[in-house]
Amino acid sequence: MAKIMIVDDSRTSRKILRGILESSGHEIVAEATNGQEGYDKYAEIKPDMVTMDVTMPVMDGIEALKKIKGDFPDSKVVMVTAAGQKTKMVEAVQNGADEFVSKPFDAEQLKKIIEKVLS
Ligand SMILES: [Mg+2]
Repeated sequence: MAKIMIVDDSRTSRKILRGILESSGHEIVAEATNGQEGYDKYAEIKPDMVTMDVTMPVMDGIEALKKIKGDFPDSKVVMVTAAGQKTKMVEAVQNGADEFVSKPFDAEQLKKIIEKVLS
């Protein structure tokens, strides 16, 4: 069981992610609705893993990834992408993203990716 933080500006996405992750036995220790809030909560709580949406207001997921990886090199960050975000995915890889999951979520695929990142 891991302590996971969900960063996503979509209430629906957060709810779906929480459902899948909790049903896999993980604990959601925090939710954040933009990259800045995600970074601040990461620094405070230091969860085992983060799911990071790419497109968010205030600070997007790429900037938050850079900040978290810059300050916490051992962090594990799984990027949540939508269709047509190839450029953002390349940028995320260059900035240390551990894995990717795409919307709409596939529960089985998501579980596999999470286990891989945590192992
Ligand atoms: Mg979004």
